[in-house]
Amino acid sequence: MAKRSITDLELKGRRVLMRVDFNVPIKNGVISDDTRIRASLPSITYAIDHGASPLILCSHLGRPKGKPNPEFSLKPAATRLSELIGRTVVFADDCIGEPAQRAIRQAGANGVVLLENLRFHGEEEKNDPAFAKALASLADVYVNDAFGSAHRAHASTEGVVRHVKESAAGFLMAAELEHLGKVLERPDRPFAAILGGAKVSDKLEVIENLVPRVDALLIGGAMAYTFFKGRTLPVGKSLVEEELVGAAREIEARAKARNLRFELPSDHVVAPRLEAGVPSEVLAVGDQAIGDRMGLDIGPKTIAAYRDVIAGAKTVIWNGPMGVFEIDQFARGTIEVARAVASVKGTTVIGGGDSIAAVAKAGVTDRITHVSTGGGASLEFLGGRELPGVAAIANK
Ligand code: AMP
Repeated sequence: MAKRSITDLELKGRRVLMRVDFNVPIKNGVISDDTRIRASLPSITYAIDHGASPLILCSHLGRPKGKPNPEFSLKPAATRLSELIGRTVVFADDCIGEPAQRAIRQAGANGVVLLENLRFHGEEEKNDPAFAKALASLADVYVNDAFGSAHRAHASTEGVVRHVKESAAGFLMAAELEHLGKVLERPDRPFAAILGGAKVSDKLEVIENLVPRVDALLIGGAMAYTFFKGRTLPVGKSLVEEELVGAAREIEARAKARNLRFELPSDHVVAPRLEAGVPSEVLAVGDQAIGDRMGLDIGPKTIAAYRDVIAGAKTVIWNGPMGVFEIDQFARGTIEVARAVASVKGTTVIGGGDSIAAVAKAGVTDRITHVSTGGGASLEFLGGRELPGVAAIANK
């Protein structure tokens, strides 16, 4: 169901409460990466340009466990935002009550307010109705641009919507819903999914939801070893989730029944330890010579095979590294997959911190159709779950 967009709302002269994701890394008051703040600028500048009076921004930051803690203050984000938009941003020392009201009065018509960390109140994560009402009382309309928090039913993402007259999705939220929604519902075919990373358990729902939808499923990273175990292949000391070996077998059986191209690595880079500089070698998967070593990257034959499948696809989604990407020696599979995805002539959607870092390292980020910064929210969406923060927003 299409959601109302910020462009469907009358903002002029109205108090606009916007949930953003300013959960940026801050150390000693210094923001080391402001990507998340910049990601919300389209919605922020749109609201300002369309007369929000004032624009009231709210966010969480870290895990302050329900009480005020200066270490988790959003104040540095107010300073940074002010630099980015070239306007004063009034900072409110509390996200509700008199401090918030005072900041809103001070900002006045066409001003901008940033409220202090929502999680300084335990009621935020408990989705407490009175807290949600107090937040809502600050505003006339509500915009949610924090896709990355939409999988949580918190007061600022879900409860608040019950107490405002109108709600809508911001541009960042809308872009995530459009691109992730398209690959699930209307993919151009062939549709290939590449999944990697540490654990099958984190992505089990995603795999299960994708098996009926994709034409090819390529598996890499440590999660491949749980599948190998299911095939009774030697895995040495590689990471295996024993309790998921049965689930892995079932997934393979379902993929086979659907006749889709389900691929596991045919070769891999093995080493005695997960450590930079250790001796490593390429072995065929199944080769007993792995002994008690561990598989830490996909090998060259696998890279070539995956590259072929990716090159022939019209829609590709990718989440999770093909190996221990943090160590250069085991990063090749992930980097080559990043390059292959970037060369696709079609829709490409990537998610997960390591995949995002890999396309950045390969210098191809701007060749990806959509980089999903939603983290857990993206995985839940791709796993077929309805996100409470999305469900709450009014439909068109
Ligand atoms: P995830 O957060 O589930 O996407 O997993 C990412 C992590 O998986 C990264 O830190 C990788 O180093 C790790 N990883 C990928 N492949 C392997 C592997 N073969 N063995 C151990 N760890 C791996």
